[in-house]
Amino acid sequence: MSRKTKDWNYAPAPESTAQAKVAKRYDLFINGKFVAPKKGGYFRTTNPATGRKLSDVAEATQADVDTAVKAARAAYEGTWGKMSPRERGKYLYRIARLIQERSREFAIIETLDGGKPIRESRDVDIPLVANHFFYYAGWADKLEYAFPNRKPKPLGVAGQVIPWNFPLLMAAWKIAPALATGNTVVLKPAETTPLTALKLAELIADADLPPGVVNILTGAGETGAAVVNHPDVNKVAFTGSTDVGKRIQQAVAATDKKVTLELGGKAANIILDDAAIDQAVEGIVNGIYFNQGHVCCAGSRLFVQENVYEEVMWKLKRRIETLVVGDPLDKNTDVGAINSKEQLKTIQRYIKKGIDEGAEIYQSECELPSSGNWCAPTVFTNVSQSSTIAQEEIFGPVLAVQTFRTVPEAIEKANNTPFGLSAGVWSDKGARLFQISSHLDAGVVWGNTYNQFDPASPFGGYKESGFGREGGLHGLSAYLDL
Ligand code: NAP
Ligand code: MG
Repeated sequence: MSRKTKDWNYAPAPESTAQAKVAKRYDLFINGKFVAPKKGGYFRTTNPATGRKLSDVAEATQADVDTAVKAARAAYEGTWGKMSPRERGKYLYRIARLIQERSREFAIIETLDGGKPIRESRDVDIPLVANHFFYYAGWADKLEYAFPNRKPKPLGVAGQVIPWNFPLLMAAWKIAPALATGNTVVLKPAETTPLTALKLAELIADADLPPGVVNILTGAGETGAAVVNHPDVNKVAFTGSTDVGKRIQQAVAATDKKVTLELGGKAANIILDDAAIDQAVEGIVNGIYFNQGHVCCAGSRLFVQENVYEEVMWKLKRRIETLVVGDPLDKNTDVGAINSKEQLKTIQRYIKKGIDEGAEIYQSECELPSSGNWCAPTVFTNVSQSSTIAQEEIFGPVLAVQTFRTVPEAIEKANNTPFGLSAGVWSDKGARLFQISSHLDAGVVWGNTYNQFDPASPFGGYKESGFGREGGLHGLSAYLDL
């Protein structure tokens, strides 16, 4: 096959940033107001596609965390905890509608700050954010129907820490169920992607939510640690790496805090020989290359049945060459910028390791922009089960391909990982999909599709991918004393 199948280009179709208002500087959102950090520190957030600074953002220290937790406690005991569930629901509906109204601005800022293609932030992230608030708004006054014969009670103050790959969506996954169940919140967004959470703080103020119900504290890992370790926090919700998750687990072990942890993944996609191959290849590409592989449930391992291996690889490589890599604000872009320099270094280290350990590399011949953080879509073949790239989470656009002969072999290989977040199975026969998925150690298994989310459907992992579920009724129970 000629590697160069792309002898044409789309004309650029960049989204205008005129609607996106990013302030020069952001303070901390505490008790319904933006306030300067007590120690006065600020850090910069940049656009990973250009390396240029977008804004300076406050760094919260222990003293700010104290103030925010006090505000959240006062709101819990004063206004929010006493409010009728129906009134709380109205606030959530208002937040959901305001997100829809401002969706364009949110999408642009999400793309500027995090590097993900505008198509993803516009069509996936922000609509899911609004849906999540709508969904939990509906439950706010129906908790006794959600949990019949129980007396659902809120937990109190929730300390929430989120990562950079779905900045606003992770904030919604944390805030919406917490508020619907009557809790108040102190949330820390990731260091490299604080802007949409701060825009959400503005929106929450515009929605007239009582002061202190939601507090947003920007900062680094230490700020996150101060939030989860604060003695007056009743519930800890964390999404991020397995390493930090383990540390949090240890820190809260001796307390009576309720904890949910959503951690890393190393998902397997399994293509059986009766699958619709074109559809499967598109699903594989969606699962690992769209969004730069910055997805905890990214389909980073691919298992192909031997007799269709040649066909799958030929089609996959051809498709990789047609992926548009570059300006995340361009509506044609499939693969945007890597979120940070550190993450790019991590990915490059894994690619080198893959080569050193004897796997065969194929990379898209796309031209990468000269500034910013970029990684060409990469696929490794000739990968062994014990290879580092088949075992560890890379969190980049890097796919490790292996083959199998029989279904039990595929299941065994797919389960041979410390993670258990998600998986995908591709087959023409529904019965085979169900049979295989019931044997996979994964919280979510997609059949003939990938990366589909719905607020009504619980999401979460097994093994080192964490515990607890977000979304659906499970997501409510994580914030309730039943
Ligand atoms: P990370 O380093 O664990 O960071 C996650 C968040 O925790 C960030 O806000 C981070 O702050 C903060 N943090 C760092 N050290 C902390 C500490 N000691 N105590 C409390 N908070 C601390 O993860 P990441 O590299 O940003 O995110 C990628 C990881 O998240 C991947 O492993 C991915 O699989 C996982 N993830 C999982 C899900 C899921 O639903 N299962 C969803 C998305 C992502 P800073 O930003 O300042 O470092
Ligand atoms: Mg940034």
